[in-house]
Amino acid sequence: MNVLVINCGSSSLKYQLINADTEEALASGLCERIGIDGRFKYKSNTGAKVEKEATMNNHEDAIKIVLDALIDAQNGVIKSLDEIGAVGHRVVHGGEKFAHSVVINDEVMKAIEECNDLAPLHNPANLIGINACKALMPNVPMVAVFDTAFHQTMPEKAYLYGIPCEYYEKYKIRRYGFHGTSHSFVSKKMAEFAGMDINNSKIIVCHLGNGASVSAVLNGKSVDTSMGLTPLEGLLMGTRSGDLDPAIIEFIANKEGKNISEILNILNKKSGVQGMSGGLSSDFRDLGAAAAEGNVLAKQALDVFCYRVAKYIGAYTAAMNGVDGIAFTAGIGENDGAVRESVLSYLGYLGIELDKEKNAIRGEEVLISTADSKVKVCVIPTNEELAIARETVALI
Ligand code: ADP
Repeated sequence: MNVLVINCGSSSLKYQLINADTEEALASGLCERIGIDGRFKYKSNTGAKVEKEATMNNHEDAIKIVLDALIDAQNGVIKSLDEIGAVGHRVVHGGEKFAHSVVINDEVMKAIEECNDLAPLHNPANLIGINACKALMPNVPMVAVFDTAFHQTMPEKAYLYGIPCEYYEKYKIRRYGFHGTSHSFVSKKMAEFAGMDINNSKIIVCHLGNGASVSAVLNGKSVDTSMGLTPLEGLLMGTRSGDLDPAIIEFIANKEGKNISEILNILNKKSGVQGMSGGLSSDFRDLGAAAAEGNVLAKQALDVFCYRVAKYIGAYTAAMNGVDGIAFTAGIGENDGAVRESVLSYLGYLGIELDKEKNAIRGEEVLISTADSKVKVCVIPTNEELAIARETVALI
């Protein structure tokens, strides 16, 4: 069966058509600037590539363009829409309502809408995507896969904040965590790849992309993670500050005459390694090159990033009373050997030994610790789309 995986943002839509039997991606791409002017990108496993301007007034227009491309006589990969057996939607916030993926029906739509407050930028866009698919493919079953669901196994001590309890009771303010699909996929894959028993394992997953988070996975279940109520908490990221003293918000507000929304915008979009490097870049390739040429701010940003990942690994080792495996994944985790080496340089006390030759391998699952290392360290490429397709098939 072919599964169409949809990941909707407020003005963008990523898609992938996956043959769930062979787990091959038949086609993938992106619609951008929806509601503005519209750009469309498509590539297929047969080598077809399309990039064009395309008017997209809304998400329904965007999905229509995607479906047309998939059945296009020249570049398409299927003959008719009947060959799409199901649609899997990435949904960012499932609050406490969803600890698992679900088949979408009216009740589920309502429950997702009730989580809008918790992710005001993302959930409404996800719902728009679901509605657009429903309008164009009314008889195709759809599944919602939540970024937060995998972390619903966290114990209270990990998810409660040190604020008056009524805020949790009234508004459900707590740690939720994100990137759950990736943390789940990568922890399982790590156990499989490294020959570990997932039901008797202590794995730390470092999902280091533009957005970045660490999770502690005990016996296959998430017991802690670095992102919180929103994806702003935790590690230093491309443009997000991660952890900071909340009093800084008032301090900047007073000094710069800004309101809370303006400062949160700075913490989300103008901070992280980009802000720390004086606006140089949020991309680790640029920062690595600049640091090598002696750019002090770029070097500082990279140092703070790696130090913070190492601190979280230390914290989660304590949380699980040990660690058997550490997995690096996502854009930086999979590609940046220098970042991995720097992070691991703090962890010698755990008996971790890095195999530098293995650490240079790219684009595949690889064990980068030596045979003598007390903890197995792996690079495990994440594949959130495939994970969503698998969940979708399992549920329908
Ligand atoms: P997201 O899905 O959160 O947008 P990704 O997981 O795609 O992020 O990661 C994107 C980031 O990965 C880029 O911003 C860049 O910093 C980093 N990255 C990608 N390729 C490389 C590379 N070859 N070397 C170092 N960093 C890389």
